[in-house]
Amino acid sequence: MASKKDDKSAGQKMEEKLLLKQEIVATASPGLLDEAMAYGEEYKAFLCNKTEREITDYCIPLVKKLGYKEFKYGTKYKAGDKIFFNNRGKNLILAIMGKQPLSEGVRISVAHADSPRLDFKPNPLFESTDMAYFKTHYYGGIKKYQWMTIPLSLHGVVTLKNGKSVTVRIGEDDSDPLFCISDLLPHLAMDQVSKPMNKAVDAEQMNILIGSWPIDDEKVKEKIKLNMMRILNEKYGIEEKDFLSAELCACPAYKPRDLGLDRSMVAAYGQDDKVCCFAQYKALLDTKAPEFTAVMVFADKEETGSDGPTGMRSVFWKDFLEDLAEPYGVSIRHVLRKSICLSCDVNAAVDPSWPEAFEPRNCSFLGRGPVVSKYTGARGKYSTNDASAEVMGYLRSILDDAEVPWQVGELGRVDVGGGGTIAVEISVHNLDTIDMGVPVLSMHAPMEVTSKVDDYLLYKAMKAFFACAKPKTI
Ligand code: MN
Ligand code: MN
Repeated sequence: MASKKDDKSAGQKMEEKLLLKQEIVATASPGLLDEAMAYGEEYKAFLCNKTEREITDYCIPLVKKLGYKEFKYGTKYKAGDKIFFNNRGKNLILAIMGKQPLSEGVRISVAHADSPRLDFKPNPLFESTDMAYFKTHYYGGIKKYQWMTIPLSLHGVVTLKNGKSVTVRIGEDDSDPLFCISDLLPHLAMDQVSKPMNKAVDAEQMNILIGSWPIDDEKVKEKIKLNMMRILNEKYGIEEKDFLSAELCACPAYKPRDLGLDRSMVAAYGQDDKVCCFAQYKALLDTKAPEFTAVMVFADKEETGSDGPTGMRSVFWKDFLEDLAEPYGVSIRHVLRKSICLSCDVNAAVDPSWPEAFEPRNCSFLGRGPVVSKYTGARGKYSTNDASAEVMGYLRSILDDAEVPWQVGELGRVDVGGGGTIAVEISVHNLDTIDMGVPVLSMHAPMEVTSKVDDYLLYKAMKAFFACAKPKTI
């Protein structure tokens, strides 16, 4: 091989040294897919949790078993201590105390556990045409037509008059019934199919069919509606009024599955952004004795603008860090100034069926590893955290040192649309932040596609980030 290398012309040598080589991961590491398979199995199990509440409920017992203790305000934690913090059952924060004091900053990553879905309206139940339905109000950015006639499952929490909450989950178990929204048959849809796509389905038509059998009592007016309430009451003890104090939603009932003859991809609902949630979660669990305190956050409400006490515009995560630092007499602003944050979220993978939406030199490709997005936003870089050269350089050195292949990605061609991430909510606190995730096909659709190799490499990237002992000199 050496003699072959010597045969290279001066121009070829220069090319090797000076030009960026976009290497396909599969070419450089043919065995990587096999390596990523076991990770894919764990990831699919994680994806069976479809809402932020279900993710939090799933992780807490697991981390407790691994020695994570619930955060206690006022405790002076020591290096290696493992802590969890549960904010309202929707945000989970995990932390491992580093060898360095908190005054040297933390290595923090944030990913959102909420995904687009169909929330129930506060007064959802109605009967019409001898059928019973739930009315919905869509959550996040969806193409409504994609949610018609797909299998749906019901998830959430109902708080009863006595203050107790019951958890609802129907349609995920194979023995459960399913739900769906009906659509007009093509034969009678001449008018519908000639409408622009965003008008073809009205949000008020997104009613979930839940039953068609009445109770046997001639004296009752809405017999089917009453029968539905009877079933729900028997199973969960709820009355119609209890919907007023509920958070219920419908999610696609699809099970996470392998995609492709080669099983190289994952097809599942909610991979935006549970793919990043799982990568940072597993990476943190696999982190031992980090130099800097390692912190992982599951965010909520990202898909609707990060508002409310569980969204990243809330102070919950900053308060946690402030409380963590307080016993050492370190102020939060000094912790944040020295810290670095990975805002972990997905990006759009180039789709050959819609090449006009992408700029291939700067958009991300499925199977080329995690995607680092210097900026997101729209138009003239509005609403973006634009990571500095120095911050990009810091992350680049971590990934390159750990030999994790990665790519950069812009969200589509300039001016075709755009979108943001929680990086803006984080960096406003003078915390250096950078976006990293994986490319996704059909983002926000009921079934999204990622590459197993990208998913696995994101985990490796996160692990390298938490383990990095290199001080931030920015
Ligand atoms: Mn996202
Ligand atoms: Mn999203």
